[in-house]
Amino acid sequence: MKVMVSIEKGLVVIAGERSILIPPSFITLLQDRVMQEKGEAWRKIFYRAGEKAMENLAPTYKLLMLIPRNSASKKKLIEELVEIWSWMSCGRPEVTKIDLKSNHFIFRVYGSTIAKQYLGRGEMMCDYLAGMVAGGLGSMIGESLKCREVKCIANGDEFCEFELKGA
Ligand SMILES: [Zn+2]
Repeated sequence: MKVMVSIEKGLVVIAGERSILIPPSFITLLQDRVMQEKGEAWRKIFYRAGEKAMENLAPTYKLLMLIPRNSASKKKLIEELVEIWSWMSCGRPEVTKIDLKSNHFIFRVYGSTIAKQYLGRGEMMCDYLAGMVAGGLGSMIGESLKCREVKCIANGDEFCEFELKGA
């Protein structure tokens, strides 16, 4: 079962994991607070937290997916992961480049729910998502990946774009 919602039980389950629905300001206010306390170090803190969150979730996700046996199935795992992310109301995710030979990937989010909170800020703001993407894709294909946000709607770009390479 991909998504299960029971209002009576106060329960939402997405891809096998109990999930919570909160306004994006719950996350951005936390992010802002860490920025105030830690300065630029907030980026590394949120990146690492997002990366760890997806590394922890990957085994549950993999149970719902195919076991990778070759490059083709790794591509399928990445596409299924991106489909799961599309259920999370964080914007519309898309992978525009999958190069398994050189471990080079491009990932986009249109209308990011979090980045929209920072419109007009003039800088990249999606370090948490960058970490999630690194940890998520890396766990799916069994590789250590580094992810960098290269476009962000908070920076005036049309969408948020992330570039991934082998770490
Ligand atoms: Zn962004």
